[in-house]
Amino acid sequence: MKNVLVVKGHFIFTPTPDAYAVYENSCLVSVDGKIAGIYPSIPEKFKGCPVHDYGNRLVIPGFVDLHLHAAQFLQCGMGMTSKLLDWLGDYTFDLEREFQNRAFAREAYTCFAEKLVACGTLRACIFASSSTAGTQELFEVLKEKGIGAYVGKVNMDRNAPDFIIETTKASLMGTKYLIEKYQDEKRVKPIITPRFAPTSTEELLKGLGALAVKYHLPVQSHLSENLDEILWVRELFKGAENYSDVYFKNNLFGQTKTVMAHGIFLGEAERELVKKMDLMLAHCPDSNLNVRSGIMPVRTYLDMGLKIGLGSDIAGGHKIGLNEAMVRAIQLSKLLNLSNGKLKPLTVSEAFYMGTKSGGSFFGKTGSFEKDFWFDALVLEDDSMIAGRYSLEDRLEKFIYTGDDRNICARYVEGEKL
Ligand SMILES: [Zn+2]
Repeated sequence: MKNVLVVKGHFIFTPTPDAYAVYENSCLVSVDGKIAGIYPSIPEKFKGCPVHDYGNRLVIPGFVDLHLHAAQFLQCGMGMTSKLLDWLGDYTFDLEREFQNRAFAREAYTCFAEKLVACGTLRACIFASSSTAGTQELFEVLKEKGIGAYVGKVNMDRNAPDFIIETTKASLMGTKYLIEKYQDEKRVKPIITPRFAPTSTEELLKGLGALAVKYHLPVQSHLSENLDEILWVRELFKGAENYSDVYFKNNLFGQTKTVMAHGIFLGEAERELVKKMDLMLAHCPDSNLNVRSGIMPVRTYLDMGLKIGLGSDIAGGHKIGLNEAMVRAIQLSKLLNLSNGKLKPLTVSEAFYMGTKSGGSFFGKTGSFEKDFWFDALVLEDDSMIAGRYSLEDRLEKFIYTGDDRNICARYVEGEKL
């Protein structure tokens, strides 16, 4: 017997970026976690199956966060007057050191995971720390939570304090250990994670690229976030044509599924390479503002056909709810529009699409309520005065702009209620 669930409520999602699909007072049927369809009433053959009736509440796809650092969660909202490279030195590395202690790692990662799920993120690409044992704790904590995630042990073998870098060999061996331990997990899987080019030797990058190809694993890292960083990469990798080429030459740039955070200052050749290699870019607007990196030219990239999802980039970003990233992405696109009227600001549906279906494509079919997508969903609880007065689109926009974990009353991953 298949596992069938009927969910009743108002369904709203974005099959395409330009508009919402809206199903008022409808019944969504999930069979073995995948969506069979949305109907005006329960189809005959599903009558008698379990029903979760949410009445006048909105049901939306779960959020997909394409870039965040679990080991930085405790420092959210601190050091926000520094620029990127100083902030890493003054705050981040000291905290990441603590994750070598497994008990500390478990406690801090539990805190992180609880808040992440509470705020509606049901799929995420996550950096842990350079500690193999600590990263193992993050895998275990996330498995218990039931969400889908790619988790990366952070690889660094130079240009960071001795207490968090490893030898090239140790970094690769720890990564291989975690791959072999977790590669067959159902929802929480390994991802190859060089922190970024400057903290990696060419030898480390080569070794990581080889692991990605050998085990068919996805890759995540940072790309072209900050102008000082780009100059530094140019100095360190004299043979490379540009920042992207450092990863590309080492099989870390689309040879397997790849998500790169930021990509703010990509030149023409790099943009073309991103497109050709079918890379996903994680736009992290809060972080880009906080550590004064810059503003991603999102409209220009979208017009070129680049794939963009959203990241909270905890703790460069200070808010873990991905709806905050949607708002900031819209606001920054308005700033760009003020200086160049040809760059149309993002609409709310475009930002919502980036944080659900677009980012979701990195995980397969999630982030939308189309047929055969996983039923990954959030049920929203809004004020009854609002619910009676405004359209479903208005209610969703209000949640995106003003909502948080208190407005989410249920969460589903692959048809299972968490
Ligand atoms: Zn980051």
